[in-house]
Amino acid sequence: MLVQKYGGTSVGSIERIKSVAARILENQKIAKDIVVVVSAMGDTTDDLIKLIKQITTSPSPREYDAIISTGENISAALLAIAIQTLGGKAISLTGSQAGIYTENIYSRAKIKELDTSRIKSELKEGKVVVITGFQGINDYNDVTTIGRGGSDTSAVVLAAALKASVCEIYTDVDGVYTTDPRIVTNAKKLKEISYDEMLELASLGAKVLHPRSVEIAKENKIKLYVKSSFSQDEGTLVKEANNMEIIRPVTGVTINEEEAIISIFGVKDEPGVAGKLFSRLAEVNINVDMIIQSSQENNINRIAFTVNRDVLDQAQEITKEIAASLNADGVTIDNKIAKISIVGVGMISKPGVAAKMFEVLGKGKINIKLISTSEIKISCAIEENQAKEALQLLHAAFELDKI
Ligand code: ADP
Ligand code: ASP
Ligand code: MG
Repeated sequence: MLVQKYGGTSVGSIERIKSVAARILENQKIAKDIVVVVSAMGDTTDDLIKLIKQITTSPSPREYDAIISTGENISAALLAIAIQTLGGKAISLTGSQAGIYTENIYSRAKIKELDTSRIKSELKEGKVVVITGFQGINDYNDVTTIGRGGSDTSAVVLAAALKASVCEIYTDVDGVYTTDPRIVTNAKKLKEISYDEMLELASLGAKVLHPRSVEIAKENKIKLYVKSSFSQDEGTLVKEANNMEIIRPVTGVTINEEEAIISIFGVKDEPGVAGKLFSRLAEVNINVDMIIQSSQENNINRIAFTVNRDVLDQAQEITKEIAASLNADGVTIDNKIAKISIVGVGMISKPGVAAKMFEVLGKGKINIKLISTSEIKISCAIEENQAKEALQLLHAAFELDKI
């Protein structure tokens, strides 16, 4: 059983779809059963969103998903036709036809169940089964989507349900690099990376894999093989850390340039204040990342935290309500923020990694606004316009170009 996922650029034109079809038929000589998951062609999903925005910025979530899920329907059916035209047997299935069931929410629904009976019966007939990534259906038979970049997750969920031990992710770079190779040209391709490091990198902004796909791969012990769809070069294996001799403190650096800081001023220093604010944000599924509470003057605090810009309006509204109920002085927003993070399981046993990061940023005249750490990552909120420079500086300082 082979499960492969081809990303947007990999199916970005008819020529590319034809070459993916040829590649799949080559693979079929080795693996009998092949399930292929596809993204929408090129920028199709962005273009569909632009169409909606020409009408309104607050569309009904149901109709929004009904539209943005359609790009995948086209690429899946085109790929099936391309395989058939080369003499192969293939069928395209939508999320609904493939039995992919999600939660009853839109845009960020999680896949909760899979009924693989249709997929299995098509495979039995010797067909390559081409499945639309990014979409499923909810309890009401309505189409849902699972978050931008979610086709990776569709593929891994299918690999888990079909008991494949590896899921191949074909994309427009030939593996996972020490940082985005489109920004830092001397970034190095990693032969392998642990699930935990990959999960941090993906969650902190490295687009190459959807964070949830890594989480599900780890849970189900499925190896992810990230490769280029344009070359035969060896890619990167994402797997359990066992047997990896990690001597480097840092494995990768990443930025997320879509952050914002919300600050609430003049809140009384008393128990329960932070709990009230952050539980209200959690209720509406707003992910708060870095948090800092600092004393302004006697018994008066400032609380600042970061959110992703796509939820800024909602987060700001809720914070203002809470600020009013706490008699706080006010709420300010800084929406030109980026988050830069260094990630590595090796930093657990090496002191001084954080100090080095702060020093490098300081020498580069890059001001740190907020900091958050975990065992294997350190993140700093900085000015958006210094993000790429910070990435270059940290990549060089931790000698990631020499891996
Ligand atoms: P696909 O359409 O195939 O899903 P994406 O655009 O979602 O592809 O992800 C691939 C992109 O991720 C690359 O083109 C690259 O610019 C970006 N990227 C960011 N960080 C990394 C990294 N550490 N290694 C490789 N690619 C990265
Ligand atoms: N087409 C979707 C997106 O652009 C899903 C994906 O590419 O993984 O977000
Ligand atoms: Mg992607």
